[in-house]
Amino acid sequence: MKCIICNSEKFSVLYRGKIRTGSFGQQSSHDQTVYKCDSCQSGFLPDAGFKYDTSEYRVEVEGVADFEAFQALHDREQDEKLSVLGSDNLRGKVIADIGCGGGSFLDLVCGMAHKTVAVEPCRNFHDGLSEKHLVYGHLSHALEDLEEQVDLAVSFAVIEHVDDPLSFLKEMRLLLKPGGKVLISTPNYDDWMLKFLPGVYESFFYRKAHQWYFNKASLQALASMSGYNSIEIIYKNRFDLSNALHWIRDHMPTGSGEIQLFDGLDGSYKHILEQTGQTDFIYAWLSV
Ligand SMILES: [Zn+2]
Repeated sequence: MKCIICNSEKFSVLYRGKIRTGSFGQQSSHDQTVYKCDSCQSGFLPDAGFKYDTSEYRVEVEGVADFEAFQALHDREQDEKLSVLGSDNLRGKVIADIGCGGGSFLDLVCGMAHKTVAVEPCRNFHDGLSEKHLVYGHLSHALEDLEEQVDLAVSFAVIEHVDDPLSFLKEMRLLLKPGGKVLISTPNYDDWMLKFLPGVYESFFYRKAHQWYFNKASLQALASMSGYNSIEIIYKNRFDLSNALHWIRDHMPTGSGEIQLFDGLDGSYKHILEQTGQTDFIYAWLSV
C-alpha cells in the first residue's frame, strides 16, 4: 500500500475496531483498520466512501436527501463558519463552495458576494442550488470555466470524503485569483475524546464515510505538498461540555445544549481544547 498523498509505503495503525457505517448506532460487522502514514501523518481507511452523485450518502448518514431537509439540518451550523471567516472580505467577491450540499453557506454570503459558485456532486440539490448560484457537479468542471477567477474557495467537512486530497487541494488552488484564499475544515483526530473514551468514541468517530483523517501536522503536510505557502490552523470545538458528559455516561451523542447546568463553563471548556489543539474540528486557511 502506498500513501495517495505522499507516496510513502510506511504505515502504522491509527485505529482498529468497529467503525460507524451511517448515523449513530450503525456499526460495521467486522473490525476495520485506519492506517496512519508515517511520513505525512494522514489517517487512511481503505474501502471507505459512498456514492456522492446520488442520494445514497445523505440517506445513509442523515436519513434524508432532499433540498429543504438539508437546509433544516445545516442552516444552524453556519455561524461557526462565519466566526472563522469574518464578514469584512466578502463584498464584491467571487466565492466558491466545494461540496456545498444544499447551499446553506452560499445562501448566507451571496447577498454580499459578486458571484457564488456551488460545486456539489449530489444531483438532487442542483435544481435548488441553481436558483441562486452557478452550479457544477465536479470541481474539475468548475476549474475548466473558472481557473484564477475565484477570490475565496471554501470546502467544509469534505476533504475527508474525497479519493485524492492532494489533487483536490491543488484544483482548489488553481481556482484562485492572485491573492485569493482557501478555507477548509475537517474533523481533528487529536480530539481529546478519542483518548479519554477510546473504543466507544473511536467507533463513532471513525466511519465509512471518511477515507481520510487529519490533524494539524497532516493538514500542514498536505497543504504544503499541494502548493500552498501559507497555512493557518484554527481549532474549533463544535460540541459542548454537556455532550461530552452524555458521551461519558451514556456512550451516545446528544448534540449541544442537552443540559444547561454547565453553560457557564462551556467557554472555558472550548478555550482549553482550542489552546491545546484537542478540539473535535479543525479549520485551515491556505494561501499561495
Ligand atoms: Zn503520506
